[in-house]
This record gives sequence, C-alpha cells and structure tokens, in this order.
Amino acid sequence: MSIELKNVTYTYSPGTAYEIHALKDINLSIPDGQFIGIIGHTGSGKSTLIQHFNALIRPTSGTITYNGEDIWGEKYDRRALRSEVGLVFQYPEYQLFESTVLADVMYGTLNSGMSKAEAEQAAREALALVNISEEYFEYSPFDLSGGQKKRVALAGILAYKPEILILDEPVAGMDPKSKRELFALIRRLHEERNITVIFVSHDMKDVYEIADRILVMGQGKLVYDGAVDQAFGTPEIVEKLGLEMPEMAMFREALLPEIRLTARSMAGVIDELRDYIQ
Ligand code: ADP
Ligand code: MG
Repeated sequence: MSIELKNVTYTYSPGTAYEIHALKDINLSIPDGQFIGIIGHTGSGKSTLIQHFNALIRPTSGTITYNGEDIWGEKYDRRALRSEVGLVFQYPEYQLFESTVLADVMYGTLNSGMSKAEAEQAAREALALVNISEEYFEYSPFDLSGGQKKRVALAGILAYKPEILILDEPVAGMDPKSKRELFALIRRLHEERNITVIFVSHDMKDVYEIADRILVMGQGKLVYDGAVDQAFGTPEIVEKLGLEMPEMAMFREALLPEIRLTARSMAGVIDELRDYIQ
C-alpha cells in the first residue's frame, strides 16, 4: 500500500479574483506502515493536501497514485479507495446526526454497500476499539461527552477497516486527558493493526510525541520531509523552518546529549524528571 504524489498543485477558484494556490508542486511518497505528522500554520495547505489522499479533491495538475494506479484514471474505483484511506475531518463530532450511536457508526459502511449485518458487526468492532461500551450503543450521539463524540466519529471511519487513517487536527481543543487517551488509541491501531497513520496538527509538541516522520507545510509548499527526531534534534532545521523546538527536544539537547532516546521513551523520561523535580 502506498500513496505517491507527483508535482501536485491545487488551486481554489481558478481564473477568478478569489484564486488561491493552496498546493504548489507537491512531491511525496507514503509507504506502508508509517506514522506521519503533518504540521504547518493555519492556511498552509494541510487540509487541502490530505483530501487529495483519498480523492476528495482532484488535483489541478500532477498525479496521485495508490498502489501504483492513477486514482483519477477513468476506471479507477474511488469509492473503494475511500474505504481503504479513511479520513477523519477536523471536528468530526459535528457530523454525527443519526438517532443512535450504533446507527451513526453504521451509516458510512451501509452506504458504501456493506450488508446490514456486516455493517453492524463492523460498527460493533469499531466501537469496541475506541472504548465505547455497549450501554451507549442506543444513546443519541448528542447525549455523549465531547470526547465520546469524537471517538464515535472515529469509529465510523474505523468501521471500514482502513489501511490508512488520516486525522485532521484530531486533538484540537481537547483536554490533556482525552488527548492522551486518543494518542494511546491511535498508537495502538498503528502498532497492532499496522495501520498507516497521517496525523495533522499545528502543534509541534504533539507531532514530536507521536509521529516518526514529519511533513512541514508552508504556504502551499512541502518545506520539510524527514524523520521527526532529525528535524527537532537539529537546531538548524528547527530554525530554518521557523519551528518552535518542543520542550522535550530542548531537554534532550541540554541535559541528556549522550543518550540517544526515541521520542516515545523521551516522553517517559521527562515525566519522571518532572516527578523528581516536584
Ligand atoms: P490548513 O489546513 O493548513 O489550515 P487549508 O488547506 O485549509 O490549510 O487552506 C489552504 C489555503 O486554501 C488557505 O489559503 C485557505 O484559505 C484556502 N482554502 C481552503 N479551503 C478553501 C475553500 N473551500 N475555498 C477556497 N479557499 C480555500
Ligand atoms: Mg486545516
């Protein structure tokens, strides 16, 4: 499974006074099994970019292939692609609308042609994955907490059993506890099911904590593509990109230069350090 973008550009409202060049000559390859963070300021093109990955937006120029096939080819099955490449929009909780949680999670898969029995089975499994217990299945989605709503919305995408999961700013506005739980869940999906995860955020700390590879968007261009550790471990890169160095990276620079730690074990060390200091 892999997505490749070659010379992709995207222009909103071309030929009008409102023309916006949202993506400029993007080249990138997303192989199987990676955990990718996409960062960049608001308006840099992150959301536009990810909607190209599952053919919600057609590039103005350039090509996009999935497993070597042009997804805009005449006979290409884009509906099947959208089941394999699941996209969770920002604030997905606003898109819940069915009368019960279970019905909401079944909605998409039913519409994509699954039988009712299959869709229900898939929904039950997906809800279990996001830790929504059966007692909530007949609730109205509107009676859930914010964090539960987000998880139900995520289950609606997981019900497709996607190979690739794209999350657009999933933790925006979340309290620290819900955020930690969602991070743990996404990591589990990545590690246990080998799902490729593409995680969009404008918070460097989040990306540093959770992703292995980072794509930095700036004014419609892909300005950096590389390992997270390398990006944040190299002050020149941080400076060049105008990024703020996450505090964990600064700790590593200042206190533990001799230890090569991964971002993940680093988070644990920092917690211990904090406990020790307090
Ligand atoms: P990000 O997700 O990084 O905030 P977006 O991809 O949403 O960036 O936006 C990239 C650029 O495209 C911005 O200038 C934004 O105003 C513009 N844009 C985004 N969506 C639309 C749209 N539906 N119509 C017109 N312009 C848009
Ligand atoms: Mg966005």
